[in-house]
Amino acid sequence: MPTSFEIHASPVATMEYRHSLVPADEAIFAVPDHGEPAWICVDKANGQLLPADPGSALAGLLVVARRLGQGLAMFARDADILVNGLPAVPCSVLTTRDAITFAPGLLHYVTERFKPFIGPPSEDMLKQKRTCPCCQLPFEPASRVITCYCGQPYHWESTESHPDKSGRLDCFERVRKCLSPNCGRAMTRGEETLTWDPRDL
Ligand SMILES: [Zn+2]
Ligand SMILES: [Zn+2]
Repeated sequence: MPTSFEIHASPVATMEYRHSLVPADEAIFAVPDHGEPAWICVDKANGQLLPADPGSALAGLLVVARRLGQGLAMFARDADILVNGLPAVPCSVLTTRDAITFAPGLLHYVTERFKPFIGPPSEDMLKQKRTCPCCQLPFEPASRVITCYCGQPYHWESTESHPDKSGRLDCFERVRKCLSPNCGRAMTRGEETLTWDPRDL
């Protein structure tokens, strides 16, 4: 999967954890995407999220497919858990920028880490006869593409990937910003990025 979910501690420490909170850079819980809920608890000493047994966990987190991209299902086991300031229902689907209070005075945010796919067009891209928004041409199996966070692929044939080809399609190098309606994101050359960083709040 090109994206993975992470739970970041709020960069602003609050109330009872103020003096013992681990630095926000280290207080990151990466949700494993292995098809089963990851059960978590809170370390009472420093507010860190830790893996837990299903029997004693505060909540379970599970990556689920949504109509567009992925969501993070949360199974709340504790009545004190809040999502965006409201009591959590037993099962909710969270997304980037949602704020979770796992315990009074302890605030976390949901975000996603994205790594572009780089390689030959996938079976799905070929089957769906998707076209490149830059050159409007369909993707050929021998081409190389790079994807945006929104899922849109772009041609990215380089001198390394296609040394013998004349007329390389290097659409990505020409756009660098996604042309899809409702997207417009700046694209990276394959580096991982957070789709949203709570420190930007
Ligand atoms: Zn193209
Ligand atoms: Zn895009």
